Amino acid sequence: MQKEKVIIIGSGPAGLTAALYTARARLEPLVISGNQLGGQISITNEVENYPGFPEGTTGPELVELMQKQAEHFGARLLIDEVTEVDFRQGPPFRVKTHGDEYESDAVIICVGASSKRLGIPGEEEMIGRGVSFCATCDGFFFREKDVIVVGGGDSALEEGLFLTRFANQVRIIHRRDELRAGEALKRRAFANEKISFIWDTVVDEIQGDGQVQKVRVRNVKSDVTGELETDGVFIFIGHYPNSDLFKEQLEMDDVGYLITDAKMMTSVPGVFAAGEIQDPVFRQIATSVGQGCAAAMMTERWLEAQEA
Ligand code: NAP
Repeated sequence: MQKEKVIIIGSGPAGLTAALYTARARLEPLVISGNQLGGQISITNEVENYPGFPEGTTGPELVELMQKQAEHFGARLLIDEVTEVDFRQGPPFRVKTHGDEYESDAVIICVGASSKRLGIPGEEEMIGRGVSFCATCDGFFFREKDVIVVGGGDSALEEGLFLTRFANQVRIIHRRDELRAGEALKRRAFANEKISFIWDTVVDEIQGDGQVQKVRVRNVKSDVTGELETDGVFIFIGHYPNSDLFKEQLEMDDVGYLITDAKMMTSVPGVFAAGEIQDPVFRQIATSVGQGCAAAMMTERWLEAQEA
């Protein structure tokens, strides 16, 4: 069993910022990456709203810079996934990964959120065969093809715009007649000739013989159904918190977001949380970075108080 002062679970903007701050406080944090180093932004192509990058940047570039900066001050990054935690006793708290078992005086949880599923026939079976939750990862496979995007938020529009680099046609299917996305993205999407919108419509089924060929759609106002031929379906309908690991150990809301106090502490003293795992409201890189910083500062103070 390895002994640590601080374990940070997750390596997105919140986790890497918590790593930077705890490293600079000489706590030698161990960051356990999770199955996607950098979290959701590692699959985000364009980042236009993170301060300090007037020309914009990409998710992977931002992850690389944040990682370098944290490591420069002594953070250690472990590419592994946490499989089990025990916060019922402690500190020290127990954290198990595929490869090892650890004890830590404090833990900062930054495991973020994952893409929601539509829960319709064909969706799960066709992942990697035309169904995707990541335009940055899979857009390239749809050169000169027609794709459908489901959703009406910032992600749907941002990823839809990115897909126009490859696809001939991007049809965005939204369940209402008004977008949730912000004005800047709306303007860009409405101005893009390759993008069209199908309003008040839901996808009921994704069909194809080994590869996506068409979707069955329904207008929610008229109940009229129909079929649309397509080569791909990109689904961007929001996220859910990755909190299964902490069930029955930490307090969470009805949806599963961890509940933290003003000092970023969860219901277990010594266990902190930052970023999308505890934030159903803002969910921005900038806010996750701020929360990661705050959680690290509070962890440092809490550890100091334990020693006093
Ligand atoms: P979101 O804002 O929650 O939007 C989800 C969209 O999917 C909504 O339009 C919603 O419809 C639709 N939807 C949800 N469940 C559905 C279902 N079962 N069937 C059909 N449609 C469904 O999620 P997001 O777009 O992923 O954005 C998440 C957060 O990240 C937001 O805070 C967003 O501002 C932020 N973000 C920001 C940027 C940026 O600033 N550049 C880029 C990406 C994401 P309704 O509108 O009817 O609810």
